[in-house]
Amino acid sequence: QKPEDVFEFARQHFAGAGVDRVDAVVVAGPSGVGKGTIIRKLMELFPQQFGFGCSHTTRGRREGEQEGVHYHFTSLDAMREAVARGEFIEHAEVHGNLYGTSVAAVGDVTKKGQVCLLDIDIQGVKTVKASPLRPKYVFIAPPSMEVLENRLRDRGTESEESLSTRLHNAREEVDYGTTQGNFDLVVENDDLDQAVRNLSSRLTEWFPKIKRAAGESLV
Ligand code: 5GP
Repeated sequence: QKPEDVFEFARQHFAGAGVDRVDAVVVAGPSGVGKGTIIRKLMELFPQQFGFGCSHTTRGRREGEQEGVHYHFTSLDAMREAVARGEFIEHAEVHGNLYGTSVAAVGDVTKKGQVCLLDIDIQGVKTVKASPLRPKYVFIAPPSMEVLENRLRDRGTESEESLSTRLHNAREEVDYGTTQGNFDLVVENDDLDQAVRNLSSRLTEWFPKIKRAAGESLV
């Protein structure tokens, strides 16, 4: 998928606001690091200011997950067709399933004037970097690989096989994520509240409209 195609398609969706001026934050980090929790916390703290860019995935639904809230759950064929129609800003195979960010998912959030939070893997980060979108990039790092492994096991959502794929991928992700210059901000998720505070304070610098709307006390 060429960046020009994304630009053409995205421009139609983000009519008026140049694609490069769409407010978005990519939150990346290995599976199990707590990205989902951090994103949820941010949306609780700033319900009017942030919206979640709901990805598509071909993986099965986990207990408690809702269509259109956590993901748009779709089939491999339907997803491939939508990708071929140019409807995705990025897509990637992650742990054996397809995941992708559609132009519409970002547009749904930014049309409301909200900052779009995107949860994507490192492959997705690299694709978005080659596109005309200009989000801020945040990497959530685990305190150590041991802590990450324990968290993934405790979550209890993965088989041994899936766990070992996720841990293997996690090592590469952490290498890329913590390399100087690849992300605008690296947040270590040791203490959740502290991580959210660190991230919030940087977000209010990047997006002054968040600060005005939410006030100082939350940060
Ligand atoms: P999970 O299956 O645990 O929900 O997600 C697995 C991985 O897929 C996570 O690392 C998550 O960041 C990534 N992911 C979720 N949505 C997207 C997406 O739209 N694009 C890409 N590239 N990765 C995604």
